[in-house]
Amino acid sequence: MEKTFPLKIGLEIHGYLDTKEKLFCMCKTDFLNSEANSVVCPICTGQPGSKPMLPNKVAMDKVIEIALVLGCKINHDKNLVFQRKHYDWADNPKGYQTTISGAYSLPCAENGKFDGIRITECHLEEDPAQWNPETGGINYNRSGLPLVEIVTEPDFRTAEQVVSWLKNLVHSLSYIHALRKNGGIKCDVNISTYGDRVEIKNLNSLEKISKAIEYEIARQLENHEKGIVQARETLAFDEAKGKTIKMREKESGADYRFIPDPDLPPMKLDEKQINAVKKTLPEMPSEKLDKLIKKYKVDKANADILIKNLELVDFAEELGKSTDVAKSISWITIELLRVLNYNKKSLDDEGVEIKPAHLAELISFVDKGEITVLKAKQIMNEFVPKSFSVKEKMAGSIGKLSEEDTKKFVEQAISENKKVFEEYKSGKKESLNFLIGCVMKLSNRRADFAKVREIFEGR
Ligand SMILES: [Zn+2]
Repeated sequence: MEKTFPLKIGLEIHGYLDTKEKLFCMCKTDFLNSEANSVVCPICTGQPGSKPMLPNKVAMDKVIEIALVLGCKINHDKNLVFQRKHYDWADNPKGYQTTISGAYSLPCAENGKFDGIRITECHLEEDPAQWNPETGGINYNRSGLPLVEIVTEPDFRTAEQVVSWLKNLVHSLSYIHALRKNGGIKCDVNISTYGDRVEIKNLNSLEKISKAIEYEIARQLENHEKGIVQARETLAFDEAKGKTIKMREKESGADYRFIPDPDLPPMKLDEKQINAVKKTLPEMPSEKLDKLIKKYKVDKANADILIKNLELVDFAEELGKSTDVAKSISWITIELLRVLNYNKKSLDDEGVEIKPAHLAELISFVDKGEITVLKAKQIMNEFVPKSFSVKEKMAGSIGKLSEEDTKKFVEQAISENKKVFEEYKSGKKESLNFLIGCVMKLSNRRADFAKVREIFEGR
């Protein structure tokens, strides 16, 4: 029988807020696509005499959005004081990190609950630079990027629960575009079993989080059997060895020597600003799922595909205004996704502009039998990056062919493939498929497949 034991797991999650500029300067935030140390200035490299600019308003708004999604109480109309959190490390040129957290600071938001897990607090801070321990080089592109830190209560009981909760969190936050696309999240995981709690720092993938938790639980239980009492400490996870290693004894808050930043005024989140943000919040994935199934009668499997991405849901809802979405669903979940994937694009990428009205129009032409399905699929290939009205092109050369015109292509296919046609006449079934394929090609997919077959069979 499985033995039970005390276990508490809590998380501190850091995510890059999706802003165009850094938190205290106007440097661009596209650190992933920029050459090392190319998006920097005296402020974010901590040069003597430089002072921070007022905090980025977009970053403040995103923290409010996140806090609302997490059901937190937002500390409005109160002084939120930026603190200097001191520590000496190569990635930290100022000698401190600026953050709205720590011993004397009220967090931006607190006491929330998301997907069954209590949220302790949610606040804003800046990212340090990136230090490469192998070369000693430092890249300041990341220095000063706005980060949200989300702290949970130790409510998790298994590694699987942590992973599925984090997936749900990232998915929900993608709906409000709060986090930088491909920016990833970093987690510190607190675990306690019999002894004091330990903290595993800087886990940057779900796989690492899961492995580190599993390893650490097993290690602590083994030590407990041997009578070793777990002290409070900070660990790192060595992925290659698959084990946690001791970094240092856990610092208490006092070690960071928090002081209010004299260069930054206290911030206030007023109710007006919070209400304005509230109005812009979209429905969350579970609400969208419900709506797709109940209102639009989309089946669960297709609804699950759609809700993976807010833009896709919005697209389906927009299409639903003029078309029976449930009936046309494969045009989105199969065809639209096919062309987007082929072009390695998504609906919200810059420069991509695909209008639901254009797809609705295309579907209506197919339904009326004026465009063949194959032709419509071909037209959709051209919908990326920008869709267009098919109607305007109909006058030209994409409409479905009349029977008479189809016959001309059939004759052309026969005269170009006499031998294959004779094979077909003598009973070889596969030859017919080849000939039909020729007609589709010759007619630029405008011939109706069934009609072509009928004409051949009548010959
Ligand atoms: Zn800068």
